[in-house]
Amino acid sequence: MGSSRGSYYSALKRITKVANSAFSLRKICNSIAKSTAKAMQANGCRILSLNPQKEYLLTVGTYGLSDLYLKKGHLDARKSLPDILEGKVVFIADAAKDERVQHPQIALAQGISSILGVPVLGKGETIGEIRIYTREPRQFSEADTSFLLSVADMCAVIFERAELHQLLEQDYKASERRRKSSQVSPLPTTTLRPTSFAHPSEEDFAKVLDFYCIEWLYEPRSFPLRWKGDKIAEMFTPDFYLPELDLYVELTTLKQNLLTEKNRKLRQLRELYPEVNVMLLTKNDFLKLLAKYGYGPLGEAKVEGIDRVLYSHAKIQQRIRTLARHISRDYAGQRLVLIGILKGVVCFMADLMQHLSLPVTLDFMAISYYGSDGQVVKITRDLDSSITGQHVLMVEDIVDTGMTLNYILSHLSAHNPASLRVCTLLDKRARRLINVPLDYVGFEVPDEFVVGYGLDYKGEYRNLPFIGILHPELIKGEGPR
Ligand code: 5GP
Repeated sequence: MGSSRGSYYSALKRITKVANSAFSLRKICNSIAKSTAKAMQANGCRILSLNPQKEYLLTVGTYGLSDLYLKKGHLDARKSLPDILEGKVVFIADAAKDERVQHPQIALAQGISSILGVPVLGKGETIGEIRIYTREPRQFSEADTSFLLSVADMCAVIFERAELHQLLEQDYKASERRRKSSQVSPLPTTTLRPTSFAHPSEEDFAKVLDFYCIEWLYEPRSFPLRWKGDKIAEMFTPDFYLPELDLYVELTTLKQNLLTEKNRKLRQLRELYPEVNVMLLTKNDFLKLLAKYGYGPLGEAKVEGIDRVLYSHAKIQQRIRTLARHISRDYAGQRLVLIGILKGVVCFMADLMQHLSLPVTLDFMAISYYGSDGQVVKITRDLDSSITGQHVLMVEDIVDTGMTLNYILSHLSAHNPASLRVCTLLDKRARRLINVPLDYVGFEVPDEFVVGYGLDYKGEYRNLPFIGILHPELIKGEGPR
């Protein structure tokens, strides 16, 4: 396949005409790209200009390429077919397989097979490129290459014009902005505790976070807000970063005029770094928060009866997402019946099922314990629906001695489900008496009595969003059920 000299001649005529028009640079280049692609019977054409520092190639005209291809953004001049920039003609027969192609997967998705690229030379220097793309694998003739080189000469003349200069100027400004935002200091990789805090309120806040097992970093990162020339003239360093929540917290226990200043900085930070999640905690919010968790002047006690928090809400959610991913993968293509025992499992069941990417149905049982030491289990509410021939996942809050689960599993097996597995949020392995198989485990907990996130002590504490260890004084002499 190829094009006739006649079609190349009329294409060059059209190109010269448009090059001489009063259209904008982009319009001229788009039109040239179109005439070139059509004359060469190609599917796409791209005209690129090299920035003066020869770092990147900017697309100034295209034809026939989809957004996906163009969204690759600026091409790195050192990586994207560097031979062209050295003044050579480059021919790629199969873009999906050729090592010289920087984004073969995009070329593949676009159905691009062959590429022909030639340099745009201005006064002997490479100032840009033209690339031709075809869907069908294609060999290019000498006439094809010579035509493309003539178009490149025409582009060289156009590039010299002032409009390009302007375009690059704008682009230079944008890249400067990007360069400046790259001056944000990196997050430290260690979680070393600071030896001192700038303000006592910050120390109090750190205590609250520690109590709730919420990870934190103190003043981890500085964001430049203003520049004078190349130098940073103003920075902002939020007090805390909470990695699990991906949240920066700035505390302010200051006077109104200083608060206004902080608000200004925060607004600026949000504008310059829209992906950064930051909140300002005012004095009142902060005191309320401290009080809620038993610290500070308004606080009376910690959450009553809780010795310490084992797993924060964020940590539980993080773990549940992982469990749900594993379960969804293992049961892919199947339907699943989730069975829980009331009431301890309610929080876990509710969160787990929302992250499962499978069709599921739910059923619940209720049990009670009797006998002198509460060791005998009795079912007080059985399943609503039959599980015969179904894939069943028993969802448990905590497995302690394993007696309850063992009893329930033998009850369920008698109904001949297609499969029966167990997922427990907590595994108190140290106290196991019966070795029940656990297929999915959230956390292995120490031999302590835990409450919260559905787990109770005498009916209370189920509503805590975290899992904590109950103060041993409270359960002295009782031991877990
Ligand atoms: P197992 O039969 O495995 O010994 O006990 C299971 C049941 O005991 C659980 O479903 C739960 O109701 C209760 N249990 C065991 N350990 C704890 C604990 O640390 N905290 C709470 N709240 N309940 C527990």
